[in-house]
Parts: sequence; C-alpha cells; structure tokens
Amino acid sequence: MVDRGRLAELLQREREQYAQRNPLSGKAYASAEHLFGRVPMTWMNMRAGAFPLYLDSARGAQVCDLDGHDYVDFSLGDTAAMAGHSPEPVVRAVQRRFAELGGATAMLPTEDAEWVGAELTRRFGLTRWSFALTATDANRWAIRIVRAVTGKPRILVNSYCYHGSVDESLIVVGPDGEARSREGNVGAPYDVTQTSRVAEFNDLEGLERELAHGDVAAVLMEPALTNIGIVLPQEGYLQGVRELTRRHDTLLINDETHTFSAGPGGATRAWGLDPDLLVIGKAIGGGIPAASYGMSAEFAERVLGREDLDLVDMGGVGGTMAGSALSVAAMRATLEEVLTDAAFETMVARAGEFADGVRSVIGAHDLPWSLSQLGARAEYRFTAQPPVNGTQSHDAHDAELDDYLHIALANRGVLMTPFHNMALMSPATTTADVATHLWAFEQAVGALVG
Ligand code: PMP
Repeated sequence: MVDRGRLAELLQREREQYAQRNPLSGKAYASAEHLFGRVPMTWMNMRAGAFPLYLDSARGAQVCDLDGHDYVDFSLGDTAAMAGHSPEPVVRAVQRRFAELGGATAMLPTEDAEWVGAELTRRFGLTRWSFALTATDANRWAIRIVRAVTGKPRILVNSYCYHGSVDESLIVVGPDGEARSREGNVGAPYDVTQTSRVAEFNDLEGLERELAHGDVAAVLMEPALTNIGIVLPQEGYLQGVRELTRRHDTLLINDETHTFSAGPGGATRAWGLDPDLLVIGKAIGGGIPAASYGMSAEFAERVLGREDLDLVDMGGVGGTMAGSALSVAAMRATLEEVLTDAAFETMVARAGEFADGVRSVIGAHDLPWSLSQLGARAEYRFTAQPPVNGTQSHDAHDAELDDYLHIALANRGVLMTPFHNMALMSPATTTADVATHLWAFEQAVGALVG
C-alpha cells in the first residue's frame, strides 16, 4: 500500500525539480495573457506541474520541449499522433498537396478520398464512408443520421464514456442507479436524461432494461472503454450488445477512435464485431485533422433516399473543411504507408514489452496494481483487478498518485497522457524507448515504496 505522507512529499519534491528544470516553459506560461486559461485549449491545463511543458519539436516517438529536454512520448497526442509525430510519408503527402499542387480546401473532391474509403472498407468492413475533421463531429453527424433514419429520439452510451464534446454522451449512472448529467457538463443545451440513456459497460441486463423503452435510435460505444482508463469487454459482452440491439431494433455505432490501437481494423476487425456504423478520428490523419464515419451500402441508400433530409446544404450534417484535399491526402498517406498491417504487429509487440516490464515491477514490489493492454496501448491501474465498468474505473482514480507518476516520469524524460496512465506505441517507438519508461517507472515506484 502507498504511504500517503511519503507520496505527498515526493510529489512536492518532483514539482520543485520540474519548475527548476523548465524555466522557459514556466516563463511562456506566465506570460500567456491573451489565452483563455493561459493555454490554447483549456484541457492543456491538465498537468501535474504548475505549468505545462511547451513543445519545441517532435519526430516519431520523440518530443523536445522549449527548455531543450528530449522525451520519449507515450501520450502521442492522446492517440492523434499514434502514427508517430510527423511521419515522413504524411509530411510528403501534405507537402505535395499543400505546397506543390496547392488547394488544401477548394470545394472540389480529390481521388484520394475514394482510396481512403476503399481502405477503410478493407479494414473495418463497412462500405460507405463520409469524412469529418474531428471524431466529435463524426459522432455528432452519425447521431443525427441514426435519429433521422430510425425516427427514435434517444442515444444510449456507457457510463463514463467519452466520445468528444457530444451533448448526448455527457450522461452517467449516478450512485442511486439513475441516469444523470455528467458532473461539470458545461452549458448543457437541455437535460441530457431526455435525449440519452445510459448503461454500465459490461452490463447486459442494464442495457436490456434501457433498450426495452423502445426509444433508442442507437447505442454509441467504444468496444473497450479507453477514456476512463482501459476497461476491457468481458467474454460474451460485445456479442450480447449486438444481439440486444438487434432484438430492440436499435442501431450500433462503434467509436474506434481509440480502440483503433487493437489492430489495423480496430477492435471491430480484431474481435469480429459487426456494427451498423463506425466512427474513427484522430490517428487516421497522421497529425492532420481528419475523421470518418462509415455505414453499410444499404443503410446509405436508405438515408440518401430520404428526400426530406438535407444532406447537401444546411441540414445539420457536414463541415466546410471536412473531407478537404489536405485532410484526405494525409489519411491516405497514413493508412497506405504508416499505420499499415505490418506496423501494427510491431506496435502491439512493443506494448507487450511495456506490459511485461510494468507487471514485473508491480510484482517485485507486491503492489495491488494491475495493467490492461489493448493492442498497441497499455495502462497501469491502481487496483489489484482491472475495473469492469466506467463507474468502478472512475472510482479507482487516484489523482495524487497519477500526478506523482506523471511528473516523476516527465522529470526522467518520459511523457504519459496527462489524463491517466495510458501509454501508446507508434511505429517509431523502439524497445529502447520502452526500456527508458521502465527505468523511470522503477525509479518512481522504488522511491514511493522504499
Ligand atoms: N471518441 C473517442 C473514443 C475519443 O477518445 C475522443 C477524444 N478523446 C473523441 C471521440 C473526440 O475526439 P476529438 O476531440 O478529436 O473530436
């Protein structure tokens, strides 16, 4: 067990060292007077030190900060840089599209889009694709379409899911078992319990109870939760979800934005899933904003056949720069040359090395911690058994311990995602990078448990 006094002391010491090590980042933050919350995006205030590290440059799995420190980056832009930072083929494709040919966003399609659509079909099985710039938007538009087609008003999500800033998804199961708005929900346009239903992950009974109301257009889910820590599906759960959604005439949307780490066709292909729609964002653009949602040809015909739906102009689906020439060029290069089937083999092997190393440290100190792996992604948790649903995972959160590990690792040249202890492998991540993490993790844990 962790001695809280010792933890507080170590955290304080690491924070002081962090401030001393990073004067230029500290100064940049202190002088950022024209930014909302001093940062370009308010979530960048999620950090263990008094200020965020400022980026200077990044390549592959390496990041260099403003003070000149090099890091092995396991946060990889919270999956947006899973292809590695600025991978060469994407740089070339973007250079060609933006500088040589010109026309990043010209209101005209390019042939790259069809290539990307065909590749997404090969990987995920669904046969008709449309594009967005963020996974949030892809989810929003998929939700609008399923509501329009089914005529049912509600969306069902898992408690403590994350699908971006999608109004319908900010709902949790409260301690009394009743649905309620997620805490901190900013300026909700309406009461989310009127637009959504919620069930715990891995709870088929709860799901059936909610679907039985008959008003759920679609279940929107990650095949494994990744945003409240990794929560893996139990045996038979995902098959059960598919059976229940079919029985209750509800569509199933898999959000593969993070579970893409499971393999080249995400969890959908790795685990033989059969969703009606699929959403993917972040990594497929290799660092350039890109996302997509897919559906079957038959479903697409159904939507396109509805003359009352304005899919062309101002009907609520679409964005000016979505599917832009630049965005699809980046997706093509990423899928064709970087996040290939072969690359995933290496990435998953790296995550296995990471997991073995962490488990050996946990075992050596007899800590009541666990590790979950989802293909190229691995994460340590402060529970002896990995949580089985979002609420359990939420309750297992230990902010002080998270902060200590993040900052102790950062001071030793290793970056983890600031939200939890997730580590992601890119095609550029090496065995030596994994060893660097293990060395830093051993030091941090060793200091803590004595
Ligand atoms: N879906 C999932 C599963 C996510 O993890 C996220 C972001 N963490 C999103 C959607 C939203 O992505 P974005 O912020 O790029 O819109």
